[in-house]
Amino acid sequence: MIELKTKREVEAMMEAGRISAKVLRLVGAAVEPGISTKELDAMAERLFKAEGAKPGFKGYGGFPGSICASVNNEIVHGIPSKKKILREGDIISIDTGAIVDGWYGDNAWTYPVGEVAPDVQMLLEVTEQAMWDGLDAARAGNRLGDIGAAVERNANKHKLGVVRELVGHGIGRDMHEEPNVPNYGLKHFGRKLEVGMCLAIEPMFNLGTRKIAYHDDGWLITTLDGKWSAHFEKSVAITPEGPVILTTEPDHKRPV
Ligand code: MG
Repeated sequence: MIELKTKREVEAMMEAGRISAKVLRLVGAAVEPGISTKELDAMAERLFKAEGAKPGFKGYGGFPGSICASVNNEIVHGIPSKKKILREGDIISIDTGAIVDGWYGDNAWTYPVGEVAPDVQMLLEVTEQAMWDGLDAARAGNRLGDIGAAVERNANKHKLGVVRELVGHGIGRDMHEEPNVPNYGLKHFGRKLEVGMCLAIEPMFNLGTRKIAYHDDGWLITTLDGKWSAHFEKSVAITPEGPVILTTEPDHKRPV
């Protein structure tokens, strides 16, 4: 069942969203060659604490980190590790979620580590644009397929692989609620979008095949061919006035 949120509930979710975005921005700003994903995780943990929020991922399904940190060919759910040290030219997807008063926020951004190769830069730009297009399609009267189509169009234009096994989702008192929000679809098809729906829209595009590989730690998901992958995510509320981004800070429109 899809939980429609009242105006007041959407306002409550904005606080979880604000903290999710702030932690993501500050951890993202610390990305540099030589830092480990464990150090980024420890930083996020401190920031959540300072904000009086709980990290949404820690313990979620048993996940051990406060962030997901997924480097290069890793798509999502990378477990932070002392051994995973960032190098110049890498990319890292950082996914942060906060819980405030029982409400979840969820957002992610893929950061370049120093200067990256031109095709990798293109991957970042196209995946980010797909996220913005998906968010813009989150309007009452549209359908889920309109979001998927808006996202997928960007990948097709640049011959990128669209991950299909992992999708966006409803969000609220649980991190993952109905409906699933695929990053592909057909315009005018799928469930109708309604005021009060809150969705996390999160394209995952690959430089090569869309196919994925699961790993023995039970979490990590990488591309099957080892080519690199990008992931951008924001949570959005569908309101009578259009899409309202929940994972945002009033003073910082973009977590870059
Ligand atoms: Mg998500």
